[in-house]
This record gives sequence, C-alpha cells and structure tokens, in this order.
Amino acid sequence: MTFEDLNIISPILKSLDEQGYEKPTSIQARSIPLILKGEDVLGSAQTGTGKTGAFAIPIIQHLANDLENAKGKRKILSLIVTPTRELAIQIGENFSAYGKYTSLKSTVIFGGVPQRAQTNKLKSGVDVLIATPGRLLDLMDQGYISLKDVKYFVLDEADRMLDMGFIHDIKKLLTKLPKNRQSLFFSATMPKNILTLSNQILKNPKKVEV
Ligand code: AMP
Repeated sequence: MTFEDLNIISPILKSLDEQGYEKPTSIQARSIPLILKGEDVLGSAQTGTGKTGAFAIPIIQHLANDLENAKGKRKILSLIVTPTRELAIQIGENFSAYGKYTSLKSTVIFGGVPQRAQTNKLKSGVDVLIATPGRLLDLMDQGYISLKDVKYFVLDEADRMLDMGFIHDIKKLLTKLPKNRQSLFFSATMPKNILTLSNQILKNPKKVEV
C-alpha cells in the first residue's frame, strides 16, 4: 500500500516524499479513503501512530479541490480542535508541511500568549484553523472568528479534552458549527462519556481502530 494507491494528489505526494514518508501508517491507510469519500470517522488512535496525517492529508486534498473553485476572500473551511498548545503547534506544522505545494493557508491559535499576532493572521484570511478550545471561544466572542463556512471539523484527543474539563466549551462550540459538515473524532480511549459525545458530533460514523 502506497499513498499513490490512496489516490493522493501529486502536490501532496511531493511533500510526503520530502518528509521521507514511504508508505501510509495503518491508521492512515484505513482513514484516508473514508475521509476522501466524505464519511464521518470515529478513530481510536494514540499519538505516535500517524493520526495527524490520517486527518490532515485528506482534509488538505478536499481543500485543494475546494480552493480551486473558490473566488474571493478566504474563509475558515476546516477547524481542528485539540486540547493543548503543544498538540496545536504540531498539527499546524503538519498542515504546513503536507500542504506546502498547495495554496492552502493555515494558522494556529492557543491561550497563554497575547492575541494580537493571532488576530492579525486571522484577519489576513485562513482556510484551516487549528485551535485550543478556550482561545477559540474567546476570539469567537470577540468577533474575530466565524465558523459558518466550516465543512471539515476535527475533534482531536477527545478523551484528554474531557479530562482537562473542556466539555462545556466543546458543547458551546458545537452550537456554532454548521449542521452540514464532515466530522472526524479521534480519541486514544473510548469510555462511555466519549462515545456519548461522539454521537452528538458524528453522523453514521465509520469506526477505525489501531
Ligand atoms: P502523529 O501520531 O500524527 O503524532 O505522528 C507521529 C510521527 O510519525 C510524526 O513524527 C510524523 O511526522 C510521523 N509520521 C506520520 N505519518 C508517517 C508516515 N506515513 N511515514 C513515516 N512517518 C510518519
């Protein structure tokens, strides 16, 4: 199994080659075809399995198509929510690396730092927003972020998100997302409260376990 076999477009293949990725990891080989088909996915996978590529690669491919047909100002078409600043930065680096040969623009926002640099980047227009929950809701409340155009939503490390007390923030966020969207939900563990949350986010999800 290669990334070519998964029908990945050449600008992305080129960047994966540069990253030294020879073949998809197990979670990538199983998730990418489902995500490219537009399915919602419930993925149980730890960090270190290539989970980020499993959602970032097909989202970049969706966006490469969307952006080709888009005119005018950039809108946030994809939102990735993750519990920590470190994860947000890592995911941002992956989007930049895998999307290097596409016109896609992404940015990362998280708390604990001044907001000015983040709001300036948002004002200049981005296609992909990677965020931790607190800063995301804060900048939404201040009017810097609209989620009305989001087509691809990812909730990453859902179990850690709940352990860190973000359930209220996530529930609030869900009320601001368009109903018509593709959602991907990743968690290392799948206890009952996580499955309940996933049911509120996903439609007829396909399950992928590694
Ligand atoms: P993740 O689980 O997304 O945090 O990825 C773990 C590490 O594996 C990161 O350093 C990635 O750059 C790397 N990685 C992801 N996918 C692949 C792949 N297909 N081949 C080789 N390394 C990969």
